[in-house]
Amino acid sequence: MKVKLINYTPHAVPMTANLTRNTRCAIPTTKWEFNILDDDIKFIKALIKAGHLGILEHTQFTFHVADISRVTSHQLVRHRLASFLQQSGRHCEVRGYVIPKSIEQNKTALINFKCHMEKSKYLYDHMVEVGIPKEDARYILPDADYTHIAITMNARELRDFFQKRISKHAQWEIREMATQMFDIAVNTYPCMFEDLYEVLNFPCKEN
Ligand SMILES: Cc1cc2nc3c(=O)[nH]c(=O)nc-3n(C[C@H](O)[C@H](O)[C@H](O)COP(=O)(O)OP(=O)(O)OC[C@H]3O[C@@H](n4cnc5c(N)ncnc54)[C@H](O)[C@@H]3O)c2cc1C
Repeated sequence: MKVKLINYTPHAVPMTANLTRNTRCAIPTTKWEFNILDDDIKFIKALIKAGHLGILEHTQFTFHVADISRVTSHQLVRHRLASFLQQSGRHCEVRGYVIPKSIEQNKTALINFKCHMEKSKYLYDHMVEVGIPKEDARYILPDADYTHIAITMNARELRDFFQKRISKHAQWEIREMATQMFDIAVNTYPCMFEDLYEVLNFPCKEN
């Protein structure tokens, strides 16, 4: 799995603090400063604590995630407030697949799994060779196959996503992906995410 931050809103801390302060002014400000002050950080943390989470919707992150299974991308795209651009199965060939640890650790299961994956790839290639369009040949492909996807979420949606998908109730692969995204997000704008350390447990780090 490869998780990469492609882009994010610059100056998000002073921008968010100033936009919020501006809601409390009778006359809107005309001066927009982009220097981070200690006050901005404290202000944002206090607003998050108070549940004023709408302030986080003005900060966006765009990630690209490669070499995840279609099992995980199905789970990911259920998060409706995010925007996605996923590898097209109508145009691209299959490149590899994810092997869950439980299968990897069981010799017989691993042999059967690999045999099934290779057979499905063989059938797929054969169908394409005889002229079946890729968009139809793909119907036989397993969910373990690799896909890649771009994800844009605002910081509020990201917090919600982290709480659901880093949770020990989530599956290991999306948990690993969400944990890597969290590490990136909290390092980019600590004041928007670091309170989540207290509410999240990080099962993938223990594994
Ligand atoms: C451990 C786990 C197990 C799961 N198992 C299953 C399963 O067996 N079957 C299954 O179908 N799904 C399952 N899901 C998916 C789950 O039901 C959600 O679809 C998914 O987590 C996306 O969450 P969301 O809808 O809160 O996120 P988003 O769509 O990103 O929405 C974010 C938030 O916006 C608000 N919101 C968005 N749309 C609406 C709306 N229409 N009405 C009201 N409020 C809205 C809600 O507050 C929501 O939490 C599972 C998820 C997890 C984490």
